[in-house]
Amino acid sequence: MLRYASRHEKHLPSKFYNLKADLPELPPPPLHPVTRQPLNPSDLEAIFPKSFIAQEISLEPEIDIPEKVLEAYSVFRPTPLIQASKLEAYLQTPARIFYKFEGVSPTGSHKTNTALMQAYLASQDGVTTLSTETGAGQWGTALSYAGSLFGVKARVYMVRSSFRQKPGRRIMMQLFGGEVTESPSPTTDSGLKYYQQNPDHPGSLGIAISEAVEVAVKNPEIKYSLGSVLDTVLLHQSIIGLEAQSQCQEIGFEPDLIIGCVGGGSNFAGLSFPFVRRNLKEKATTRYLAIEPEVCPSLTAGELTYDFGDSVGLTPLLYMYTLGKDFIPPAIHAGGLRYHGMAPLVSHLVKQSLVQAEAYPQDKVFQAAELFLKTEGILPAPESAHAIASVIDEALQAKRAGRPVNILFNLSGHGFLDISAYDRQE
Ligand SMILES: *Cc1c(COP(=O)(O)O)cnc(C)c1O
Repeated sequence: MLRYASRHEKHLPSKFYNLKADLPELPPPPLHPVTRQPLNPSDLEAIFPKSFIAQEISLEPEIDIPEKVLEAYSVFRPTPLIQASKLEAYLQTPARIFYKFEGVSPTGSHKTNTALMQAYLASQDGVTTLSTETGAGQWGTALSYAGSLFGVKARVYMVRSSFRQKPGRRIMMQLFGGEVTESPSPTTDSGLKYYQQNPDHPGSLGIAISEAVEVAVKNPEIKYSLGSVLDTVLLHQSIIGLEAQSQCQEIGFEPDLIIGCVGGGSNFAGLSFPFVRRNLKEKATTRYLAIEPEVCPSLTAGELTYDFGDSVGLTPLLYMYTLGKDFIPPAIHAGGLRYHGMAPLVSHLVKQSLVQAEAYPQDKVFQAAELFLKTEGILPAPESAHAIASVIDEALQAKRAGRPVNILFNLSGHGFLDISAYDRQE
């Protein structure tokens, strides 16, 4: 059998997959932040581009990928589907392990998938600037790149702890024409509140979101863009799972277990949802594992309830597993997993026991990353390494049980710009 599925264009889908069309029951709807009543789509127009809102509320099972976006995808998609045969051999496991490698995108992670769609939709609506937040910088970089392709400026509020720790990502954003501000900043009311307490405030994703939403609400030509959590972002990421299905079929690999790391839930959902459809519709028994950091355990220790997406309370209320909007997670290296909430659709599947969740400590994650580098030769992003740690545990369990298992996981990004995080480990 091949170790590597083809990257032939036939694996590139022409439509995204919308899980909501196949759910027997939808999750509770978002609520208006002030009235706490179910949101009208028009309430969102102050924040998001109109064509983005149309996708957010759609219940169509498939949504076309525009020609211009397909062209942009074709530069790096389909991404490779690779067998981790060196890792399998090292672990002496009967498990077969394949991974989808999203690190080949121009900005190094899966976030480019939704960034390109969002920048395209904004350009169609005549939006000149998209405001957004970024933690470790992957999302801000992806949106700056996508904006440069479609003529939309990215204004990025970057969490201060990352801004100072990861100058590489700030430089990338600026090279792509993005405008980067350290958050909390004194330039917005939301930021000023924290900045006045402490000009060195380390910041959080929740605070940076408040700043980005505030400038969108106050400026009609600026709209807000979010890199995870929302149904539409998960819809765009379904391209990962759709390609994987086509590639798995080509090489005759049928996954029993699908694993991804979760921050807001988008890369995990992107790989999983097209397969979850078969659990819902075709009685497939595929298992799903969502892996989060021990210090930011929204799925394994959070509460399923309505909460704000940001710290100040400007966004709609989402029904999700959350640690509370004021939760400020410790500054771990996997900055992309430091978010207090979880995508409502992923939360819903966890509640229904279709998806299981586990939390991993940072030291175990870094050991997994190093083993992956030594066997497979790819340096994973610290976020993606959470998935690898779980894959290793599952492969070793298969060995103890003497039972083969087919594992598919998402390698959501490479770790080249997180290299200093690896230096600090012994
Ligand atoms: C942002 C990011 C994540 C976490 O976000 P999700 O929405 O949960 O996918 C994971 N991996 C990488 C490489 C990221 O950049």
